[in-house]
Amino acid sequence: MASPRRAAFLNPGRDLAAGVDLARRVEALGYDSAWVTHGSGRDSFLVLAAYGAATTRLGLGNGVVPIYPRHPVAMAQAALTLSELSGGRFRLGIGVSHRVSMETSLGLTLREPRCMACGGALVPTPKEHVRPRIPPRTALWKDDYFVCAECNRLFWRGTHWERIERTLRRAVAA
Ligand SMILES: [Zn+2]
Repeated sequence: MASPRRAAFLNPGRDLAAGVDLARRVEALGYDSAWVTHGSGRDSFLVLAAYGAATTRLGLGNGVVPIYPRHPVAMAQAALTLSELSGGRFRLGIGVSHRVSMETSLGLTLREPRCMACGGALVPTPKEHVRPRIPPRTALWKDDYFVCAECNRLFWRGTHWERIERTLRRAVAA
């Protein structure tokens, strides 16, 4: 049986240098990884870069970075750079955060996914209502469908969605 992994949660608080010192100690104590959040304080990628520079084998992770304030390309660039900088020790954690944080604190407007053809709203639609339009093989394994309120185009979370997810996971693991 594999031995359990030990992880430390190390937000630096008021003193980044103290956080870096704790990262060194955590590594010396045999912890497998150190994690930081990404709230209204410091940038978690930069904090982890500082931890990574002060350690040699400690895993580094942000748990988690909100996806809305950062363009996906900028997110991937930061993750790939930190992974390279740390010799592959970095693990990216992403999340949606909370509507109140994103809208009230950052002034962003969260929207539901839109139609890729016209930008119209996607309306969840029962499978029975659109069954004649579903490719037969897709109908065998997908149950959730959406119809664009503007152009009536039919959507489902299909292979493109899974391909995007796989590509992102590969990019982050590289
Ligand atoms: Zn549309």
